[in-house]
Amino acid sequence: MSEPKKLFIKTYGCQMNVYDSERMAEALGGQGYVETKSPDDADMILLNTCHIREKAAEKVYSELGRFKGLKAEKPDLKIGVAGCVAQAEGQEIMRRQPLVDLVVGPQSYHRLPEMEAKTRAGEKALDTDFPEEDKFEKLKNRPKAKRGPTAFLTVQEGCDKFCAFCVVPYTRGAEVSRPADRIIREAQDLVERGVREITLLGQNVNAYHGAGPNGDMTLAGLIWELNKVDGLERIRFTTSHPNDMTDDLIEAHGTCDKLMPYLHLPVQSGSDHILKRMNRSHTAESYLRLIERIRAARPDILMSGDFIVGFPEESDADFQATLDLVDEVQYGYAYSFKYSTRPGTPAAERPQVDPQVADERLQRLQALITRDQRKIQDSMVGRNVHVLFEKPGRQQGQMVGKSEYLHAVHVADADVAVGALREVRITSSGANSLAGELV
Ligand code: SAM
Ligand code: SF4
Repeated sequence: MSEPKKLFIKTYGCQMNVYDSERMAEALGGQGYVETKSPDDADMILLNTCHIREKAAEKVYSELGRFKGLKAEKPDLKIGVAGCVAQAEGQEIMRRQPLVDLVVGPQSYHRLPEMEAKTRAGEKALDTDFPEEDKFEKLKNRPKAKRGPTAFLTVQEGCDKFCAFCVVPYTRGAEVSRPADRIIREAQDLVERGVREITLLGQNVNAYHGAGPNGDMTLAGLIWELNKVDGLERIRFTTSHPNDMTDDLIEAHGTCDKLMPYLHLPVQSGSDHILKRMNRSHTAESYLRLIERIRAARPDILMSGDFIVGFPEESDADFQATLDLVDEVQYGYAYSFKYSTRPGTPAAERPQVDPQVADERLQRLQALITRDQRKIQDSMVGRNVHVLFEKPGRQQGQMVGKSEYLHAVHVADADVAVGALREVRITSSGANSLAGELV
């Protein structure tokens, strides 16, 4: 039997890329590849890239440059670029970095086996189509290998919202939802392999409208179906748009026992002027009222969000409105980014905010977010939470898992297996995690 070929995948960006990387590794598994943790002994290196911010693409080019020596030593090594930078830059990647053999966009990676064969025949392979066929259908069933207790499952891709700053509608294409029965089958298969918590993924996951037995299903409908899967203990979803928080989804947060009390709901800015210029089609007020309704359905829900500071035309007053909104919501987690110009998007053409001003605003916003985050984390001390244990900790006998609120929880001398779901009393709160003892 011939030695398996080795595949090294490096993943940048969002959780959807993490999922895509798994699926690409599985697709190449059929070509005799097994994954390796080091590029040094790889026969193929794949960078699964993100294009959401400028530096990400530059990082990819500098990473590719670092493989020059490896390729010189090992001429048979194949180097590929996948993901959103591949989609956006296409042929340009091969022009700028001739050592690249393969470029594949996020909608075409089911064609990787043929593309890999082409590179083995000494040709370059490029595919950045938005093909008609469903890539998930074309991908083979996932191998039955055992897995850890948590997994991502992509249910929806692409976006039709065209926020003025965002490349997603261009790199990932129009919004498409996978049919419900296939998602449920994939979830059952993951559970058989040891998964107990599934995070449903989509760029606009709550816009999900996949085909169900009685017409299109909403995300809430899909969650209720998944709620029936035996052995699946927890369901999460990300990322949501405020305009797609339908009544049934809000209600599910109060009534669906496996749906976790955590919601990532990006708002981007607290200023109505900026929200309008961002083409977000919601206001700060409508967002706050929405959170009120969500909290009425599930009072202990932990809110998370995304913010962009230094968007073109953002004044001090606009920025203050963002700080006010953060203060009012009290986020358990929030991710904030300095606006990054994306060529081809409407905001790229507008007068930009002074980068120093944007830097200073980012620091102020992050300080406020950290304060709230810490306060909420500290408020868990003395409470009982449920922890899904994911791995051993750094100390002997220690186990680490996540609470329903997605806080990392450490338990010393815990006699529990990976995958166990146990009640834990929180005894202390550290910099980025909680500690507790089994109840
Ligand atoms: N669909 C989600 C939504 O509507 O909020 C977000 C998806 S996007 C992949 C993730 C986050 O990246 C966004 O919420 C936004 O905060 C940030 N982002 C997107 N484009 C950006 C840009 N040009 N500059 C800075 N941050 C950006
Ligand atoms: Fe990008 Fe999200 Fe806006 Fe879609 S809704 S354009 S993915 S930020």
